[in-house]
Amino acid sequence: MKGICILGATGSIGVSTLDVIARHTDLYNVVALTANNNIDLLYEQCLEHRPEFVVVVDEKKALAFTEKLKNSPVSDIKVLSGADSLEYVATLDNVDSVMAAIVGAAGLLPSLAAAKAGKIILLANKEALVMSGDIFMQAVAESGAQLLPIDSEHNAIFQCMPAGYKSGMHAKQARRILLTASGGPFREMPLDQLVNVTPDQAVAHPNWDMGRKISVDSATMMNKGLEMIEACILFAMTPDQIQVVIHPQSIIHSMVDYVDGTVLAQMGNPDMRVPIAYSMAWPERFDSGVEPLNIFDVRRMDFEEPNLERFPCLRLAYEAIKKGGIIPTILNAANEIAVEAFLNERVRFTDIPVIIERCMERFEAKPANTLDIILGVDQQARLVSEQIINELYH
Ligand code: NAD
Ligand code: MG
Repeated sequence: MKGICILGATGSIGVSTLDVIARHTDLYNVVALTANNNIDLLYEQCLEHRPEFVVVVDEKKALAFTEKLKNSPVSDIKVLSGADSLEYVATLDNVDSVMAAIVGAAGLLPSLAAAKAGKIILLANKEALVMSGDIFMQAVAESGAQLLPIDSEHNAIFQCMPAGYKSGMHAKQARRILLTASGGPFREMPLDQLVNVTPDQAVAHPNWDMGRKISVDSATMMNKGLEMIEACILFAMTPDQIQVVIHPQSIIHSMVDYVDGTVLAQMGNPDMRVPIAYSMAWPERFDSGVEPLNIFDVRRMDFEEPNLERFPCLRLAYEAIKKGGIIPTILNAANEIAVEAFLNERVRFTDIPVIIERCMERFEAKPANTLDIILGVDQQARLVSEQIINELYH
């Protein structure tokens, strides 16, 4: 029986993880659930999964949650609040696995704490890795933590790696990674119409049902840019070894091209419970609840090269990883601010890459060798991005 802590339990990945756990209550015991503020959903999850701890980051919501638990069937659950409590529950002795599914930079400290504590980390929170690649992988190596990627593409690549592969190793027989992308909802929209895209249109992804931030990232293809950086870090590859491939059906979730000409692909229905179940059962396999793939319904699979004029965010991500140092942290922070501003209708869809590019231009590629540097630069880039938004609209 493994103890699991789910960081970001109320999000899209958190909900899918609990769905998988409900099928395997003989193998997994939920020790802790965390949420930012959705206490109604968290309450339902507590009734079903009976964790020992919950963290509600927002203090007022945490008080309201404590009230809600009084006289309930789950009144014995310990309720904590504040961001520090995330690190506390991610490193508890009876936690073996940590699902890192908080969105954005907010997930960095607890994910890193789990890495330092030598946990099995099921990593969905790609932003944490983009911000702190070297430090994160060093923490994993030093503590002997096991890092299993949840992002469907990286999970696919991991599955296509040689037997005995561990995250962070360089598989020298693998010459290239083919990182697939759906192309999002605007793959075929005339370029001059992108400026009028609304948040509702941007979050309506054709193949995947995800949180709002990653859905916008998929529409701009910054998601693929972050994933390209994530792949460089996880699989010890150079950016030139990672080819992004637009594959609109989202049936192949990525491929590894070997020196002998073999290309291995992982396929399946586009449902995050597949990579979640793979990582939870690893090195075995178990039922994820996902329907078997009906290959006759798929009928055809298409592949095309991404157009960097349509998707400037992808170009910016390649620039950021090639410059290295703190620049991927800047890219991530500027993107988080720009996407939030777009979702709040303060900027247009096509402003997103403009804000990120201008922000990147204002920083030099200094080394990102301590956590303090990374957190400091993250804050600075957020302020600079806000200034750029003000410059654009005043
Ligand atoms: P989501 O918005 O649905 O959920 C985010 C979760 O994080 C929620 O539980 C929320 O309470 C929590 N959270 C948000 N801000 C927080 C903060 N400041 N402090 C503490 N907790 C906070 O997001 P999601 O779609 O589940 O994505 C989660 C992560 O997984 C992201 O990094 C995303 O890139 C990655 N991912 C998601 C999918 C997907 O299909 N949804 C696929 C691949 C990777
Ligand atoms: Mg992905």
